[in-house]
Amino acid sequence: KRREDVMNQEQRFWHRFLELVQSNFKPSVYDFYVADAKLLTIQYQTAKIFLNRDFKKEFWEKNFEELMVAASFEVYGEPITILYQFTEETTQYTPQSGAIQPIENSIAEAAPAEILPTVHPDIKPKYTFENFVQGDNNQWAKAAALAVSDNLGGLYNPLFIFGGPGLGKTHILNAIGNKVLSDNPHARIKYVSSETFINDFLKHLQLNDMDSFKKTYRNLDFLLIDDIQSLKNKASTQEEFFNTFNALHTQDKQIVLTSDRNPDFLDNIEERLVTRFKWGLTSEITPPDYETRIAILRNKCDESLYTFTNETLSYLAGQFDSNVRDLEGALKDINLLASMRNLSEITVEVAAEAIRSRKQTSPQNLVIPIEKIQNEVSNFYGVSVKELKASKRVQHIVHARQVAMYLARELTDNSLPKIGKEFGNRDHTTVMHAYNKIKSLLLVDDNLEIEITAIKNKIR
Ligand code: ADP
Ligand code: MG
Repeated sequence: KRREDVMNQEQRFWHRFLELVQSNFKPSVYDFYVADAKLLTIQYQTAKIFLNRDFKKEFWEKNFEELMVAASFEVYGEPITILYQFTEETTQYTPQSGAIQPIENSIAEAAPAEILPTVHPDIKPKYTFENFVQGDNNQWAKAAALAVSDNLGGLYNPLFIFGGPGLGKTHILNAIGNKVLSDNPHARIKYVSSETFINDFLKHLQLNDMDSFKKTYRNLDFLLIDDIQSLKNKASTQEEFFNTFNALHTQDKQIVLTSDRNPDFLDNIEERLVTRFKWGLTSEITPPDYETRIAILRNKCDESLYTFTNETLSYLAGQFDSNVRDLEGALKDINLLASMRNLSEITVEVAAEAIRSRKQTSPQNLVIPIEKIQNEVSNFYGVSVKELKASKRVQHIVHARQVAMYLARELTDNSLPKIGKEFGNRDHTTVMHAYNKIKSLLLVDDNLEIEITAIKNKIR
């Protein structure tokens, strides 16, 4: 079935408009001005648009209204008036005079829309392989994802990608979707978050309509399922996912999963599922190193309306070291400040001012370096920092090491791989193990609690 048959007129209008923006403006403009906007209603030849910031209106009026009118002509064969509002409530709009016909009336006569929307209902066009910056931290995941999109995936089925938040898992899944669709617009592909999968399943179960659920999820060439750790403790959904997985896998249909952790650490997910997750290829994305962070920043700033000095880029790369989402959020704040102040160049001072509030939301990450934790733990237990980082398995050293890792996890926002790195390049699973161990000891050992509180007080 062709896409435009499934979309209603309103959706076609909006999709067409988004396409036009995407082909006429830089992605940064799209991200900043359009990505959060919503079409609330179209009635009486008037489109009501929600904008999350009122100052965006002026930009819309200047730049996008023309495109909206063009989209309206294509879809409705009529021009359109645009109203903006800054809340998402849809209050009923009544036309000033009764003379205007509801737009629906003109549909029948409207020229057949000359569009072939390339927009897939659940795949985000903005996440592509082209704009996914490669670094040591993600190159294998990216290579595997590319292989899978080229249908070389027989070997990698399923492909299981895992890593901490904000490191590009959702981006890669969507990039696979976009690549597959651009190579073959008729590919049957579905991107779904595990949350949506759960809700979808429960809804169909309730409506006693499992047939259509199965039809949706089993007649696919590609199933891209995000954040699979969310299936934990959802026994009936896990059962259904197990069946979905098997149905697709036996037909050699490609499955790609993401998770915030290694399959071995997925708690409360059935063993038979975990086993299947490991059938294909498992690939980890770790936090980007400094060089990669600079490359990502450069890539994103190329699209900005403003010029970032090299110094600013180094500054930002130093401020956000574990999560690309934070890095992007910082750029958004900076773009916003620059647009409000009419700046053209972004200096370190401007960047620092723009991100101040963002940094205040995670003060612990700011004030407590892992090194400080290591020093205090080292003093407290009389174990050198070098020993904390080495691999010697003497009992008191092991204990001190585990406490230090526990505190690094507890008091900072650093990812497990980052912490592992700071402790003599250990695997993140070691950190996880140490953390869990100390945590469970704390439940039964009051002395340990006193020790740890004392160390914490020194650190703060
Ligand atoms: P996750 O799903 O792992 O939590 P996302 O895929 O949502 O992370 O990524 C967070 C943001 O960071 C997205 O906007 C994404 O485009 C961006 N991002 C992450 N990694 C990269 C990269 N290597 N190159 C470009 N953008 C990236
Ligand atoms: Mg994600």
